[in-house]
Amino acid sequence: MSNLPSNHNQEDTQDLSSTSIGTCSNCSAPILDKKSAFYVKDELYHQSCITCHICQVILTTHVFFTLDGKFYCDADFNSVAVRCTVCENPIRERVIETSRYNYHPECFRCTQCLSPLDGQLYTTDAMGNIFCIEDFHRKYAPKCHLCKEPIIPLKFESETSRIVALDRSYHPECYRCADCRTDLMHPDSLCYWIETGFYCKNCRDKRVESHIDSLMVDK
Ligand SMILES: [Zn+2]
Ligand SMILES: [Zn+2]
Ligand SMILES: [Zn+2]
Ligand SMILES: [Zn+2]
Ligand SMILES: [Zn+2]
Ligand SMILES: [Zn+2]
Repeated sequence: MSNLPSNHNQEDTQDLSSTSIGTCSNCSAPILDKKSAFYVKDELYHQSCITCHICQVILTTHVFFTLDGKFYCDADFNSVAVRCTVCENPIRERVIETSRYNYHPECFRCTQCLSPLDGQLYTTDAMGNIFCIEDFHRKYAPKCHLCKEPIIPLKFESETSRIVALDRSYHPECYRCADCRTDLMHPDSLCYWIETGFYCKNCRDKRVESHIDSLMVDK
């Protein structure tokens, strides 16, 4: 952290001690000798200018943190740092922000399956909970009225294909005649709902006939 640009020979080093080696990023005054200089991320400071924003202690011999261009000692950083919504500890390094909450990269996990989501695709629900895409759909996708499974977009599909019939949702593969498996999406196919399933016109007519037959037998 406190590296100075290396000087290649002894005489240069001695010459530098009498001239300014740069200006301090805090107080803008020249820094006259390298003993009092301190680098933080390529910015030059007087050692005496690296002080805790809260308790004013000189930090160059301590562990310290920077936040919004200010320096903090370890204890004071804890009071100002953003806290992780999962473990509630201060976040010292990289913060992952969603529209609602902040996380440690290692705490940023799917609420459901706990798989790490740092650098992964994720989504949030209305309460701000984070989910992997699969679990989000499992939880929130419309359920197929026939097979009761969620209707989830295939990978690389931006929209889910689903059939909405009689105000209920179905997988395209479920929207078929229950008897002959004819695809009822076909423009020529007429679709009938009887008790528990969809039927094509043929199968529906057969069912109606046999139903009439059985009614007649009963009588
Ligand atoms: Zn200074
Ligand atoms: Zn402090
Ligand atoms: Zn955390
Ligand atoms: Zn998950
Ligand atoms: Zn289905
Ligand atoms: Zn059929």
